[in-house]
Amino acid sequence: TPTVRFEDVHFAYDPARPVLQGVSFTIPAGKTVAVVGPSGAGKSTLSRLLYRFYDLQGGRITIAEQDIRTVTQDSLRRAIGIVPQDTVLFNDTVAYNIAYGRTGASQAEVEQAARAAHIHAFIAAQPKGYDTMVGERGLKLSGGEKQRVAIARTLLKNPPILIFDEATSALDSANERAIQAELASAAQNKTTLVIAHRLSTVVDAHEILVMEAGRIVERGTHAQLLAHG
Ligand code: ADP
Ligand code: ADP
Repeated sequence: TPTVRFEDVHFAYDPARPVLQGVSFTIPAGKTVAVVGPSGAGKSTLSRLLYRFYDLQGGRITIAEQDIRTVTQDSLRRAIGIVPQDTVLFNDTVAYNIAYGRTGASQAEVEQAARAAHIHAFIAAQPKGYDTMVGERGLKLSGGEKQRVAIARTLLKNPPILIFDEATSALDSANERAIQAELASAAQNKTTLVIAHRLSTVVDAHEILVMEAGRIVERGTHAQLLAHG
């Protein structure tokens, strides 16, 4: 598992309106760092830059000390799994949606892999259960069910680096807690960036960064940040 480092990262979609204004942090190999803050703070932009969806305009991002500008897009995609905030599924079966990206995998192979990796836990939405869910079509699913499928798809890829961008935001609170516990266990020994709206939804992080208007304004453990109010 690699270390991920953001060093004085600057970025703007529109040159007149800076979005990230010098962001630095390190996710030690195999650890989880969470970024919390109000919407519009620039949290999702961090994940898009790490995935090199956009090029940064200042500073640098490294994975295992290697500047991501020198890494091919293909190997970045292999190294990083994103569970995005708004998942778009194909209007095909859940099994197909999970297999997407694993070229040549049959539905049976995908189901086998999913079971082996305990990924069915992410798909089996009560009261439907795994066997019904896996045959359903993506567009029929609720927001929470789509998020479970997106999580399963990303975990099946088994990447060394994970990004959870408000990955449980479409779930009701009981399901959110259950899935969060599963995510925390999936993130063990992976280098993980968790993006969340509220501090209360992040517990298990090595460090939590509070972001406002493109800057990190506070950082610490969950207990330290709670103590500060
Ligand atoms: P957060 O994840 O904290 O809600 P974002 O990183 O999504 O914040 O957005 C930070 C700022 O960048 C916001 O002002 C948002 O409107 C703007 N922004 C996000 N994506 C784009 C885009 N694709 N084009 C232009 N502006 C964007
Ligand atoms: P795969 O895991 O099959 O290689 P991708 O890496 O292309 O798939 O994408 C994984 C998921 O992350 C998809 O749902 C995709 O829509 C989403 N995604 C890809 N790039 C970004 C990005 N820059 N920001 C947010 N979501 C993204």
